Amino acid sequence: MTHYHDGETCFQNRQEKIEKKNVTNKEANQETAKPLNFIREIVEDDLRTSKYGGKVQTRFPPEPNGYLHIGHAKSICLNFGIARDYSGLCNLRFDDTNPTKEEMEYVESIKEDVLWLGFDWQDREYYTSDYFDKLYEYALQLIKQGKAYVCDLTADEMRQYRGTLTEPGKESPYRNRSIEDNIELFEKMRKGEFPDTSRTLRAKIDMASPNVNMRDPVMYRILHAGHHRTGDKWRVYPTYDWAHGQSDSIERITHSICTLEFEDHRPLYDWFIEQLEIHHPQQIEFARLNLSYTVMSKRKLLQLVEERIVNGWDDPRMPTITGLRRRGYTPEAIRYFADRIGVSKRETIIDVSLLEDSLRQDLNKRAPRAMAVLRPVKVVIDNYPNDRVEELEAVNNPEDPGMGTRKIPFSNVLYIEQDDFREVPPPKYFRLSPGKEVRLRYAYIIKCHDVVKDSKTGEIIEIHCTYDPETKSGGSQSQRKVKGTIHWVSAQHAVDAEVRVYDRLFRVEDPNGDEWKSFINPDSLEVLKNCKLERGLVNVTQQERFQFERLGYFCVDPDSRKDRVIFNRTVTLRDTWAKIEKAGA
Ligand code: ATP
Ligand code: MG
Repeated sequence: MTHYHDGETCFQNRQEKIEKKNVTNKEANQETAKPLNFIREIVEDDLRTSKYGGKVQTRFPPEPNGYLHIGHAKSICLNFGIARDYSGLCNLRFDDTNPTKEEMEYVESIKEDVLWLGFDWQDREYYTSDYFDKLYEYALQLIKQGKAYVCDLTADEMRQYRGTLTEPGKESPYRNRSIEDNIELFEKMRKGEFPDTSRTLRAKIDMASPNVNMRDPVMYRILHAGHHRTGDKWRVYPTYDWAHGQSDSIERITHSICTLEFEDHRPLYDWFIEQLEIHHPQQIEFARLNLSYTVMSKRKLLQLVEERIVNGWDDPRMPTITGLRRRGYTPEAIRYFADRIGVSKRETIIDVSLLEDSLRQDLNKRAPRAMAVLRPVKVVIDNYPNDRVEELEAVNNPEDPGMGTRKIPFSNVLYIEQDDFREVPPPKYFRLSPGKEVRLRYAYIIKCHDVVKDSKTGEIIEIHCTYDPETKSGGSQSQRKVKGTIHWVSAQHAVDAEVRVYDRLFRVEDPNGDEWKSFINPDSLEVLKNCKLERGLVNVTQQERFQFERLGYFCVDPDSRKDRVIFNRTVTLRDTWAKIEKAGA
């Protein structure tokens, strides 16, 4: 059996990583030109007018304080996609200005996820902390220009002075310190001569500005904390507002693409750059991705992990890239999803079914079919010789004849789904029931005669049938039609497996707000321990994906071992069987 294998697994080592990267980058590069959106229009205009000398330079700037999620994937596809399509470059920059919340674990996971998505920053792996010296110099420059000052107001006082959206703020009593005093105090702040939060460095702009961000924003705060890259060198750390725009400028970013909440910060970023007279990137804002039935805030995702509501960042129910990967998502499906949602200036909630549909479209073309019985019940075919085994031909993927066929064993004892048999069938039930016929996929038509029940529990333990030898699939006499076709697995050849059936993690479409945890779906994971898979799945390897006929798409979990095969349900089928299921319910 030729298994679908794209190989973007949890990478074992760097070497393997690099090989995979080349494969996926090639794939990402082969994708066809994207439809224009407002950001691409701006980029094309700038290329036409040679605004940045015909260059396109973007960046993806994650803060290494959590794992990447599907929202970040939108930003990654956007930034790397634009660079790719306009012969530009895209940097990976870790926005590591906050020493207390950041960890190397996150840095590594972010790199792995970007590579897996099929994008490559090559040697342009940057850190805001690499620019701490430069940023400090820039700050001194502003102080010398009389555009920044050391302020002794406490955080509370600063809040009181700031005013509101309708009232102007008040100027700090420290606002008019001399340049010399400011230089000296700022130096002392840097050296750690003052306690945490006792002083800040602030830009001197306009306390009456209608834009609150322009009311003398903080550029540096004192923090006696080590940093994961600069160690104990710094006792002052730049704020995001001070660091972000200058970092973009230092990297000579042309189009600084960010989410809408930074629109009101743009005048501030422009102001800094104009005072410093340095390279001026164009900031462009777009609406962040929100998905139904999903929380996306890093804080909430961290809570899910820390409170063990899920089994880690890579739990297949998580919207993290690593979770989606373990769930069986492909990078192609995620890139396709990103193309389909496009970009806009208005926040909406995208239906999670669009993400699932993008995955189905990809897997439908590529995932080989297999038969698997998740909740088995035994079928005994009384008129089939019990020492006989037939090898029947099954199609690997009806969407792709190139994927060929395989042999599946048929014998007198089989497993079918409990659901595919009803002792008392409801109306329009076309599966198996006493006295009724059903076709076994790739095999024969069988008819049920009898059931054997457990004398104590009344549970059905065996369904006795006869088969019609004239109805072999593909055979010359197989034309006889019956309404239902069901899947099955030969009992003596079956591979035992555990299957983890995942459902949405939240019960409601919009699980946000303070009560978000009360919306958690208590049935988001069902572990089925007694599943039976067709013989060919005996040697599956990590992350292989299959369509189990009639059931959905499934992938091998990284916990899977030779003697303990474990599959995850990736996504259900949006299937032709849905009607039958409904009718049968
Ligand atoms: P934080 O609140 O910790 O800043 P964040 O979600 O903004 O969280 P970052 O690491 O700063 O996380 O994000 C990196 C980049 O990804 C940013 O450019 C941000 O705009 C983008 N991004 C984050 N979330 C989304 C989202 N839901 N949709 C699109 N882009 C996003
Ligand atoms: Mg952010």
